[in-house]
Amino acid sequence: MYNKIKNIEFGNPNHRIIIKKHVFKKFHKYMNKKTKNEAGGILLGNVYKDRCEIVKITKPNKYDSFGPNYFVRSKRGAQPQINRAWKKSNGTNIYLGEWHTHFANDPKPSLTDKNMIINSLNKTKMEINFLFLVIVGLNNTFWVGKQTREKLIELNKII
Ligand SMILES: [Zn+2]
Repeated sequence: MYNKIKNIEFGNPNHRIIIKKHVFKKFHKYMNKKTKNEAGGILLGNVYKDRCEIVKITKPNKYDSFGPNYFVRSKRGAQPQINRAWKKSNGTNIYLGEWHTHFANDPKPSLTDKNMIINSLNKTKMEINFLFLVIVGLNNTFWVGKQTREKLIELNKII
């Protein structure tokens, strides 16, 4: 069965993001239907000339706060994981954005989500001038956006 799951790609020739299939499986794992609480974490991956690839995500940790309609990631839990991934990959694996779940079939970023991703970009000390926001919905639905200095660009799934 696992062979059938492919990498998924969003965007257009100017803004391409590829989510690796093992990451895709993890998103589903953290979509906790029992507790109905949102889950989330950060996106880690590689930047290439023509695309970005998400190769790792972090899972929720005890410092995060969450409920059925919100997820606020704590800085404290994620930073050591960002540092570890960076070291392990010899500096190629970097922080590329944020992900969290919504219990909806057509996930869309809330105003809080939009403010969060622009604030994260403004606070980042890295050399990239964009971040991704991935919202994982029910039944294999996603909302993927790329936050640049100017705007949040929605990226559609490429079939
Ligand atoms: Zn949200």
